Formats: sequence, structure tokens, C-alpha cells
Amino acid sequence: MGAMKPVVVVGAGLAGVAAARVLTMAGLPTIVLDRGRSIGGRMASPASDGRVVDTGASYFTVSEPEFAAVVDGWRKRGLARPWTDTFLVTDGEATSQKSGPMRWAAPRGLRHLVLDLAEGLDIRAQLVTQVAPRLRVDGLAASAVVLAMPDPQARRVLHPSYAAELAALDDPYDPVLALTTRWPEAAWPAMDGAFVADNEIISWVADDGRRRGDDAPVLVAHSTPEFAAQHLVEPEKAVDLMVKALRQALGITTEPVSAQVQRWSFARPTRKRDEPYFLGPAMVGLCGDAWSTKPRVEAAYLSGAALGRTLVEKLR
Ligand SMILES: Cc1cc2nc3c(=O)[nH]c(=O)nc-3n(C[C@H](O)[C@H](O)[C@H](O)COP(=O)(O)OP(=O)(O)OC[C@H]3O[C@@H](n4cnc5c(N)ncnc54)[C@H](O)[C@@H]3O)c2cc1C
Repeated sequence: MGAMKPVVVVGAGLAGVAAARVLTMAGLPTIVLDRGRSIGGRMASPASDGRVVDTGASYFTVSEPEFAAVVDGWRKRGLARPWTDTFLVTDGEATSQKSGPMRWAAPRGLRHLVLDLAEGLDIRAQLVTQVAPRLRVDGLAASAVVLAMPDPQARRVLHPSYAAELAALDDPYDPVLALTTRWPEAAWPAMDGAFVADNEIISWVADDGRRRGDDAPVLVAHSTPEFAAQHLVEPEKAVDLMVKALRQALGITTEPVSAQVQRWSFARPTRKRDEPYFLGPAMVGLCGDAWSTKPRVEAAYLSGAALGRTLVEKLR
């Protein structure tokens, strides 16, 4: 009997890594392919001015026991910590406070949480261009394929013969621009983060120093989807407008020491789904944050892990 073909997971964001971990721990040969220079996907924590900053997801929340158990492990090892349950709401003039669920942050950056779950997995740097008929991933023969990425990215790689999978990938996703700014000092109202109301340019600001716990004077502002859509081709041209909107929103009178923008063409799902993943007879599974009624970090984990368990049952 020949060796079993591997399950090929495309995408090493939280969903892909969660799926691959379940598969690997069950003893199934599993290969993860990711096109990024580093894994983590939208849980991105690149270095800026020599310091790690969260430029994708701002934080995560916890509601399901399955994810709570994972987060508890991170908390015990100092990888994640409860950050805050209260943010400001400002329209540039009036300011109020809004409380909600506990938001969790990662002192070393959210990407490190994905890195932690990825330990021991076979992860390779590769841009996948096509999942061809009979489960061939750029020539690599698979027993099953997992596409763990935003719908528009998954659609790009699927051969037209995967009609049911393509039909299921119907969420267009919204874009966001993330502006990272470093300041001479924290010359804004004390806060962990602020929802910016009635603003055409920015919708949210996080104090990354308070979030990460080193008190560095660094703010990360997220654009509205509409503003991002206008600047996807040349995002760097949006920097000045975003800095101006940020200063107005928080009443900052100084200039930033540095400002960089990151483009997220597919930042957030626009729809909700009741199913936690898709898996048809072709054995191409689809998972990620869009497979949820609450699309976010927790959903990505739960979706990937659930698809992984189903594949283990089918392939064993
Ligand atoms: C600006 C922004 C703010 C957010 N804020 C929050 C928040 O505050 N709270 C929250 O809970 N969530 C937030 N989110 C959402 C959260 O980041 C996602 O829900 C979660 O990280 C999704 O994980 P995923 O594994 O489903 O997808 P991703 O993290 O997108 O992973 C997909 C992976 O697939 C790879 N890939 C894509 N195409 C290919 C290919 N052809 N070949 C190989 N690899 C490929 C990518 O490189 C990527 O690593 C935010 C997201 C953004 C962008």
C-alpha cells in the first residue's frame, strides 16, 4: 500500500493552522502552504520602527468554551491577556464611553498566537496558484484540500470544475486600510481604543502601547471600508488624509514621528453563515472567519478546528 497522500491546507492564518493542528494531532499527514512572508494572515504583527505592532485584528473576544480553553493556555503562558472592556466613542467633539465584552490582546502581537498553534506543523512558504481537478495543488497530490482564506482569495485558486465550492464562496469581503503612527508622546485622551463616529475616513483607533502593555506612543487607526475602497491601488496616498482625520478625532495637536499604511483588500466578511465550514464530495473544505454568524478571530479558530475534525473522521 502506498503512503497516504497529505491533506493540503492552503492558508496559515488562524483557521488554517487550527485545521492543520487537528489533522496533524490525529496522525494524518498534513502540509500547510502560505504565500505570506510570515504566517498569521490577518492576525498580523509586523515590526514598525523596531517595535511589533498589531496592524490587522485589533483584539479578540471569547465566547465559546472550546476557544476559551485555548485562550486559557495562552494566558497561563503570558501569550495573551485580558486587555479592556471599555472604549471611547468620539465624533471629534463629544466623547462618551462604551463597555462590552472583555477584549483580549497579545503582549508579543496577535501573530504570536498563530505561531504558537503552528508549532510542530509542516508549514511551507508557497503561493498556491491552482487547485486543479483530482485534488492537485500546484502539482502536489492531496487526499483532501482545505482553503482557509477569504472567499475572494479562495475563488482565485479553484479550478472551474469545483462548481459547488465556487458557488459557496459568495462573500465579497470589505477592505480596510490600517494606519500605524508613532508620536513624540501620548498627547491624546487616556483610552485603550476609540470608535470614531460619523467620520468618512477612519472608524476605529487602538492605543497599541496600552494594548501591548509597553505604553509606547503608537496609535493604529482603521479606515472605513468606503475610504479603503477608494485607495486600494495607491494606499500610501491615503496616509496624509488618515493622519489628519486621526488628529481631528482625538484632538492631537502634534505631528506623528512616523506614519505607514497597510492595505487589507479582504479585511472582513460582509455576510454571516450558519454553517461552520463547507465540505462537499470533492473533498475541498472551505473554512475561515466568514463561516460564522460572528465573523472574527474566534470564528476563524472554531471554523478551522471543526473542519479539521470532520476531515479526520472521513479520512481515517
Ligand atoms: C484591519 C482588520 C481588523 C480586524 N479587527 C478584528 C478584531 O478587532 N477582532 C477580531 O476578532 N477580528 C478582527 N479582524 C478579523 C480577524 O483578523 C480574522 O477574522 C481572522 O484573523 C481570520 O483568520 P483566517 O485564518 O480565517 O484568515 P486569514 O488570517 O486571512 O488567513 C488566510 C491566509 O491565507 C493565505 N493565502 C491567501 N491566498 C493564498 C494563496 N493563494 N496561496 C497561499 N496562501 C494564501 C494568506 O497569506 C493568509 O495567511 C480584523 C481583520 C482586519 C484585517
